[in-house]
Amino acid sequence: MAKTTLHLKQRKRKRGAPKGRAVDATALQEIRSLLGKQPRDRDLLLEFLHLIQDQYGCIKSAHCIALADEMKISAAEVYEVATFYHHFDVIEDGQTPPPPLTVRICDSISCELNGCEALITKLGETLDKSAIRIQRVPCVGRCEQAPVAVVGCHPITEATAEAVTTAVTQKATKAPATSHINYQQYCDNGGYALLNALHHNQQDGESIIQALDDSGLRGLGGAGFPSGRKWRIVKEQSAPRYLAVNIDEGEPGTFKDRYYLERDPHRFFEGMLIAAWVVGLDAIYVYLRDEYASIREMLVTELETLQNSLSLPMPPISLRRGAGAYICGEESAMIESIEGKRGMPRLRPPFIAQVGLFGRPTLEHNMETLYWVRDIVEKGPKWFASEGRHGRHGLRSFSVSGRVNQPGVHLAPAGITVRELIDEYCGGMQDGHTFYGYFPGGASGGILPAEMGDIPLDFDTLNEYGCFIGSAAIIILSDQDSARSTALNAMRFFSHESCGKCTPCRVGTSKAVMLMQQSKWDVPLMTELTQAMADASICGLGQAAPNPLQCVVKYFPKEIE
Ligand code: SF4
Repeated sequence: MAKTTLHLKQRKRKRGAPKGRAVDATALQEIRSLLGKQPRDRDLLLEFLHLIQDQYGCIKSAHCIALADEMKISAAEVYEVATFYHHFDVIEDGQTPPPPLTVRICDSISCELNGCEALITKLGETLDKSAIRIQRVPCVGRCEQAPVAVVGCHPITEATAEAVTTAVTQKATKAPATSHINYQQYCDNGGYALLNALHHNQQDGESIIQALDDSGLRGLGGAGFPSGRKWRIVKEQSAPRYLAVNIDEGEPGTFKDRYYLERDPHRFFEGMLIAAWVVGLDAIYVYLRDEYASIREMLVTELETLQNSLSLPMPPISLRRGAGAYICGEESAMIESIEGKRGMPRLRPPFIAQVGLFGRPTLEHNMETLYWVRDIVEKGPKWFASEGRHGRHGLRSFSVSGRVNQPGVHLAPAGITVRELIDEYCGGMQDGHTFYGYFPGGASGGILPAEMGDIPLDFDTLNEYGCFIGSAAIIILSDQDSARSTALNAMRFFSHESCGKCTPCRVGTSKAVMLMQQSKWDVPLMTELTQAMADASICGLGQAAPNPLQCVVKYFPKEIE
């Protein structure tokens, strides 16, 4: 019967009329005027979606179809990409577009500790919902200034309802400019001298890789792969080879990349260009999370100055804008996203060093790893390697948030313990708070109790406890907090951010949330579930999502009795 109806409907299409949804002439004109003379390359799909979202405050079906027509791709491709990312509001025909202004309030761990729930409730009661949309969002990368609300693109730190309302009333929706070391100031202090020396054969590439090896510098995005070895692997692959720089920094608790970029962007650019020269890279793609609007504006300007002022050959550099998807911090998902697709992790092998961006060998680096290249070469690898405590070597940028007096990015020796970090770098615990526990590596790195506060913090030192350091995001809990509720917060985050590609993660995270919300935890069932997630998920998100839950069971049994 259903088949017959479909058949009859199909017959109603006029002979010769095109199949599918017709392209609206006005929408097509609007898309053409937005895209201007830019090439209609497939990998620019996300960039074009941003143009539409920024201009119209949403992405209507008519624009999706017109964009597909203009890019000569299917409407389904446009639709599946647009609906994958949280920062695009895709509106079906007849649906009401969102209000003109969005106030995003972070509800991740550090903001929850600092009262985001009360803030959300108060703003819900006071702001005019016909003109303003209030959205709960995951970590916006400013955990040291929690709670954080973002009015349009304007982050309000240590936010109160009054401060948010004032920004709304004054229409203060633009991200304030960064105050950073600009190109000229960087050059005046010896900047780009090392890159110059390389280009003029006063320094050879092999000595740079050797310096990285000797320093022990490892990937600082979380995976910790030795940097020098990575450069060698990619260098051995056939050209063209690409560099993909990861500044997605979405792990709750992490904000170190933002910290360094806001201050000294050219130190990162120089490391990036040194890598390009030494490894022989033909193009550079920098992937920046969308939440860092002021940094994006600054990087556009500084990159333009760099390209116009530095009289050295350099590969083409493209700055790409994320769109609110945590999974794009995973290297292969980021590459998919740069290619203009949904940010879904790839199955490996092949590894991206061999088959990466656009199918070519790709050097993928976290921004901070490149940031240290100049200093390591100029000051000598010993400068970096001689730091360290408790038998560990090097320096780590700890993003510390939670119940300490001086949260922020603290550059400290690798292997420092959390107690030493709190006392020596963070000004101790806040008044009235006693150290109770800590996340040693953001939301996915697990939770440890205060009694285990003397473990050296570094790559590989926490594995035996079911934890890891990742990007060194430390969230400090006090006796006024609950490990159980912060673990639930973390699991909600993973459930929200699961890309959906594999069942153990997609279903496992939401099932875990359900179980963790029960007053009495069904530990045997949770153990079975988390084992399946850890064993069978495709990527690190699903594999690590159970860590906080398992830590509560292991280290905070009193909370679930
Ligand atoms: Fe996607 Fe989760 Fe599977 Fe990773 S583990 S591929 S995030 S569904």
